[in-house]
Amino acid sequence: RSKEIGRNSFQLYKPAMNARSLERMAIENKLKQALKNNEFSLYYQPKIDSFTHQIVGAEALLRWHDSELGFISPANFIPLAEELGLIVDIDIWVINAVCKQIQQWQNKGIFDRRISANVSALHFTQGNLAQSVENALNIWQVDGRLLEIEITESSFIRSLEDAKKVLKALKQLGVSLSLDDFGTGYSALSYLARLPIDTLKIDASFVAKVPDEYGNSQIVKAIAAMAHSLELNLVAEGVEQAHQLAFLQELDCHAIQGYFFSKPLSVEQFELFCEAHRPAKIALSVSS
Ligand code: C2E
Ligand code: MG
Ligand code: MG
Ligand code: MG
Repeated sequence: RSKEIGRNSFQLYKPAMNARSLERMAIENKLKQALKNNEFSLYYQPKIDSFTHQIVGAEALLRWHDSELGFISPANFIPLAEELGLIVDIDIWVINAVCKQIQQWQNKGIFDRRISANVSALHFTQGNLAQSVENALNIWQVDGRLLEIEITESSFIRSLEDAKKVLKALKQLGVSLSLDDFGTGYSALSYLARLPIDTLKIDASFVAKVPDEYGNSQIVKAIAAMAHSLELNLVAEGVEQAHQLAFLQELDCHAIQGYFFSKPLSVEQFELFCEAHRPAKIALSVSS
């Protein structure tokens, strides 16, 4: 403790300390307290059937609100949480919060489709991901088939065999697995046939450039063809425009996530969205 104080006061008087690193230190200290102070919440982005426009699932996305700093983007604080050794605890919080939400929405008859949670690649070498998921499913009495875990290709870098064990254990819980940001990592495609993955999520950076950019469009076509031949589900991320949707429909990409249909929504907003997208209402509006 006294050593810690000593180190901090030394840092404060260090002449080389610039505004940027002071700001970073402040964010680090706040991030360390964020879980305890209940500053995290989840937003939910609908996954939409590209043909029927019905809601087929949702992705939980973490939001951090600090009283002084305001909202901080996960793109900024997740890498920091990984660096500071906080990510496993944060992931576990997210998995539990998602399971709790699944149970609540199911009980209230609001939403009964699968919801995905993102987990850090570091969770494959730190902590025990499968055990954490099993605990959360038990605590909240949730059927594993209603939970999906989104992982990235970097989860396999350390050891493919270790990752495979974790993924198999998750599959045994009934949990669905998707590969996020597909195409952006250093992917050895051979793992796709060897790991029990259910879904590929085409990264938004590719989707952003279809159909205008020839090279990108060909990549998206190739990913779709591969997903179909390996019998994997396909989700396109970051769909913002009608012509992107049309291009993806053409490739038989069934699920769409993006601002074209909806931004990530608060719990209240998501409930309203579900209300507005009930199958019966869609059927009525189609026939009228
Ligand atoms: P991701 O898992 O690939 O999530 C998709 C990101 O794209 C989200 O950003 C979402 O808000 C954004 N997005 C969705 N549709 C559109 C669109 O049409 N246009 C644009 N421009 N963006 C769109 P977000 O919420 O800022 O999250 C960023 C990343 O942070 C996530 O990427 C994921 O890697 C990470 N992340 C978010 N929540 C968690 C979490 O609970 N745990 C962990 N470990 N990582 C998380
Ligand atoms: Mg994701
Ligand atoms: Mg992604
Ligand atoms: Mg990402």
